[in-house]
Amino acid sequence: MSRFLTEKYALLTPYTPGEQPKDMKYIKLNTNESPFPPSDKAIAAAAEAAKTLELYSDPECRDLVSKAVEVFGVERDEILFTNGSDEILNFAFMAFCDATHPALFPDITYGFYPVFAELGGIPYKTARLRDDFTIDLDDYKGHKGAIFIANPNAPTGIALSLAEIEQIILANPESVVIIDEAYVDFGAESALSLIHKYDNLLVTQTFSKSRSMAGARLGFGAGCKELIRDLNTIKYSTNPYNVNRMTMAAGIGVLCDEDYTKQNCQKIIENREYTKAKLKKLGFTMTDSVSNFIFAKSDKISGEQLYLTLKERGILIRHFSSARLCEYNRITVGSREQMDALLDEIKRILEETV
Ligand code: PMP
Repeated sequence: MSRFLTEKYALLTPYTPGEQPKDMKYIKLNTNESPFPPSDKAIAAAAEAAKTLELYSDPECRDLVSKAVEVFGVERDEILFTNGSDEILNFAFMAFCDATHPALFPDITYGFYPVFAELGGIPYKTARLRDDFTIDLDDYKGHKGAIFIANPNAPTGIALSLAEIEQIILANPESVVIIDEAYVDFGAESALSLIHKYDNLLVTQTFSKSRSMAGARLGFGAGCKELIRDLNTIKYSTNPYNVNRMTMAAGIGVLCDEDYTKQNCQKIIENREYTKAKLKKLGFTMTDSVSNFIFAKSDKISGEQLYLTLKERGILIRHFSSARLCEYNRITVGSREQMDALLDEIKRILEETV
C-alpha cells in the first residue's frame, strides 16, 4: 500500500479471480470459460472492426442493441451493454444500494458481490443457504434495498425455477431484484420475459460463457426503461465508451450465429451429465448443477488434496477454502477430451490414495 491510498480503500479485500498460471500448459477447468473457440462470425467482425480503432466506440452500442432486441426479445431502451457482466453488477450496486438500502444475497454465491458492496461502502446482509445449498425463499421477503441472486448459483450450479424467481420479485416490491444469469444457457430458465411485467427486476447476462467471449468482456443488463436509464446515469458518469469497437462487433457476430451457441451449450450439457455420472461411479457426491461447472466432493480425498494433486499433474480446478465449501471443488465442464483426461487422472489419484 502506498502512503497515498485513501482510508476508505485501505481495508478493501479485492476479488480473487481464478488463477491463470503460465508455468506450464494446463487443462484449464477453473474459471468456467468455454472450451470452444468464438464463433467465426465474431472473429471476422472483430478483425474488421480493428481497422477503425482510431475512432471511439459508439457509447450507445446501437448496432449491437438492434441485434440484441431481435435475439433477447427486449425493447431498445430496456437493455444496457457493459464491459463484462461484472460491470453491470457493479453499476447495480452503485445505483440501487446505499446506507439505508442494503444489499442482500446468499452467504454462498458469486464472490464479487461482497467486494462490490465494500467498494461502494454499502452495507450488505447474507442469507444462509440450507445445508444442501438450496435457497430458502422465506429469507427473501420485504427487503428494502437490492437483492442479488445468481441463477444458477455459483459455485453450486443450483437453479431456482422461474416461478420461484417471480415469488422473490413479488415479495420485495421495495427492492430491485437482480437476477445474475451468467450461467443460464446451460439448463436454467431465464427471467428475461419478466422484465416487461415487473419494474423491480434487472436481469444480467454475459457473453463470457455460452458465447465463448470471456476475453472480449461483454455483458448486459435488461430491465424496465427507468432502471436502464438509472444504470446509464452511472455508465455515463464513469466510462461512456465501456464496450470497445472489437468487442461490440464480435458481439453482433456471435448473435448472428445462435445455432453455434446452442450447439455448444448442448455439448456442454452432455459433457456435464457424462462427467457427473462417471464421478458418481468414483464415489463423488455433487449438487444438481445446471451450469457449465460441476460442484463435487469425494469421500476418499479432501477437496484441497484433490485440487493440489490435479494441479501438479497439469489440471486446474477451482478450490474454495471456506468452511462449508472446502471439501468441494468446482470443475468447469470442458470438451469431452478434457473431461476424459480429468476423469483418468482422478481415477489414478484415488487408486494411489487407498
Ligand atoms: N456472475 C457470476 C455468477 C459469475 O460467476 C461471473 C464470472 N466470474 C460473472 C457474473 C461475471 O462474468 P463476466 O464479467 O465475465 O461477464
